[in-house]
Amino acid sequence: MSSGFVAHDYQFKVILCGDSDVGKSNILGRFSRDEFNPSSKATLAIEFSTKVILHEGKRLTVHIWDTAGQERFTALTRNYFRGAVGALIVYDITSVESFNSVPRWLSLLRSHAHPATVVCLVGNKIDLEANRKVPTQSGSDFAKAHGLLFHETSACTGVGINLTFHQLIVSIYNAVS
Ligand code: GDP
Ligand code: MG
Repeated sequence: MSSGFVAHDYQFKVILCGDSDVGKSNILGRFSRDEFNPSSKATLAIEFSTKVILHEGKRLTVHIWDTAGQERFTALTRNYFRGAVGALIVYDITSVESFNSVPRWLSLLRSHAHPATVVCLVGNKIDLEANRKVPTQSGSDFAKAHGLLFHETSACTGVGINLTFHQLIVSIYNAVS
């Protein structure tokens, strides 16, 4: 190639939603750095990770934003939602409370993000199957009723994480290309 400059074909903003402790920061850590942190500390500042995915010969640059621990205070700024074309709403399969919060997160998204934002519902911590409180069927029924993608994951073992992001990103790509 005569030039070292490579244009990014697409840039997407994806945001993480869901109650604290469901595993959002670890899902992001697993996807962007293949890391897991068993002793999580609250995220201190708004931060995002960037990942480049090659799809159908295109470079898809994805900026994935984490909540900076603000979910406890439902104080996420409009800035967090602005420009998001994709979102994960994460709950913990061992916590009914976190699943009960999903409708609230969905309505927050619907009122703050673009109506065309692609949303994936994610039931995390499936490595803790023995403590499961939310059946897979409950998650998939909710997703189907609201037109969301749906996956179960473990940030701990890595199961389902890449598949979840890839499907979300390809859905976004298909919607905009
Ligand atoms: P956040 O508040 O939603 O960002 O959640 P964190 O990523 O900080 O995770 C909260 C706690 O759950 C931490 O102790 C994590 O180590 C743990 N955790 C996150 N994901 C998983 C998972 O898939 N399996 C298990 N067993 N623990 C997890
Ligand atoms: Mg966090």
